[in-house]
Amino acid sequence: MKEEMEIRSVTEEKPSHLWHAMHRHDPQVKQLVAVKGEGGWFTDEAGNCYLDGVSGLWCLNLGHGRQEIIEACAAQMGKLTYVPLTMSHQPALQLATKLSDLLGGNYQCFFSNSGSEANETAFKIARQYHKQTGNPEKYKIISRYRSYHGNTLGALSATAQANRRVKYDPAVPGFLHVYPPYAYRSIFNGTKEESDLKAAQLVEDTIRWEGEETVAAFIMEPFISGGGVLIPSMEYIERVQDICNRYNVVLIMDEVVSGFGRTGEMFGFMHANAVQPDIVTMAKGLTSGYLPLGATAVKDKIYQSFKSVGKDNHFRHVSTYGGHPAACAVALKNIEIIERENVVQRVHDLAKSHLNALQRLTKYDHVGEVRQIGFLVGLEMVEDKATKEPLADEKMVGILQNCKQRGLIIGRNGDTVPGQNNVIIIAPPLTSTEEDLMFLVETVTDVFNHLFGSNISESIP
Ligand code: PMP
Repeated sequence: MKEEMEIRSVTEEKPSHLWHAMHRHDPQVKQLVAVKGEGGWFTDEAGNCYLDGVSGLWCLNLGHGRQEIIEACAAQMGKLTYVPLTMSHQPALQLATKLSDLLGGNYQCFFSNSGSEANETAFKIARQYHKQTGNPEKYKIISRYRSYHGNTLGALSATAQANRRVKYDPAVPGFLHVYPPYAYRSIFNGTKEESDLKAAQLVEDTIRWEGEETVAAFIMEPFISGGGVLIPSMEYIERVQDICNRYNVVLIMDEVVSGFGRTGEMFGFMHANAVQPDIVTMAKGLTSGYLPLGATAVKDKIYQSFKSVGKDNHFRHVSTYGGHPAACAVALKNIEIIERENVVQRVHDLAKSHLNALQRLTKYDHVGEVRQIGFLVGLEMVEDKATKEPLADEKMVGILQNCKQRGLIIGRNGDTVPGQNNVIIIAPPLTSTEEDLMFLVETVTDVFNHLFGSNISESIP
């Protein structure tokens, strides 16, 4: 009791007016105050150092303090502070062309400030596109359970994780969800490939059952990240592309997390063959988190329907700060560095040579599956490998806290059973050094040895 009162008086002495994202409002918990960053590391007020093993919220891809990016930002602010994108400015023009080139198609880019807005923009474009091309009844948007597409009401309606939604329901009408490719806990029988193809078949069945004349778009991440790092076989992505083509359903690829090298390709969909989404949404790694920026890249075929003169078919959508000159200048410099330093190839190689060592963790009884593509890793934690019961909440918290005490920040999500986040998330900056990656793997292994040493099927070096 005395101890309790002492803690209270410390927190009451310095009341904070900051409303933390996602945080349970426990006055006893003092949030870490970060003060300085360098590369993948940052220090807190007390001088403790941490490796950021989740790149902030999977966005700090080039790490802290890149002088070139900071200078590009300052130079642009000094030259032209702001004009809205109802007109043009050079950084937006250049960035739109660069993104279209990187996507390997002919795309027109609409800029906003975040991943949520990029997806909202995509939904509005898909609906309006169908309205003005003779399919006014196509309005439904399909996404997958376990997906996360943003916090605004439309993007949240596409987000299909009960624990993030229930307090804000009812959702926006017209959003439907299908079962994801999730072989580890699949409702379908067979191998991973077979189970994933059945999940793709469900997309087609749903479109037909709903009436293809009513379905506007299908939104997917190539690899569900916020719902527990679910990595499908590439045939799943290819099959979905084919289904969308056949039913005139706009394929929206959410590359907010997977874009700009995170998975060892410039964009996640590029792991698959013959996939060229109608719309690609981006944020996070677009600026490596240096400034807020979202982008919605739209294939020329769709954009053309917004162009004809004399008809009321322009896009009635504007964002005051979307495509801010400084944010576009930062994005251009960010992409220049990614290309110049071969970051994408580096992620591909280091993922194999260093992060792959995390696969060994499946030797613990509590690690059901390790899913990894590039620098995007999910450890599905279970009480028991046979029953696959998700690991208890307090044990998940224990893993994160123990890592933090050893100087490593990692995350968790999943919503495996609604509200139960039993997947450990690891997504270090793409420029992490070999030593950083070794520290990360060793620290997680150390913590697992410490917490679950007796629950091990084989010894881990
Ligand atoms: N899409 C995906 C796949 C995301 O992971 C996120 C954010 N984590 C968003 C969209 C929304 O991005 P923002 O937080 O920038 O609105």
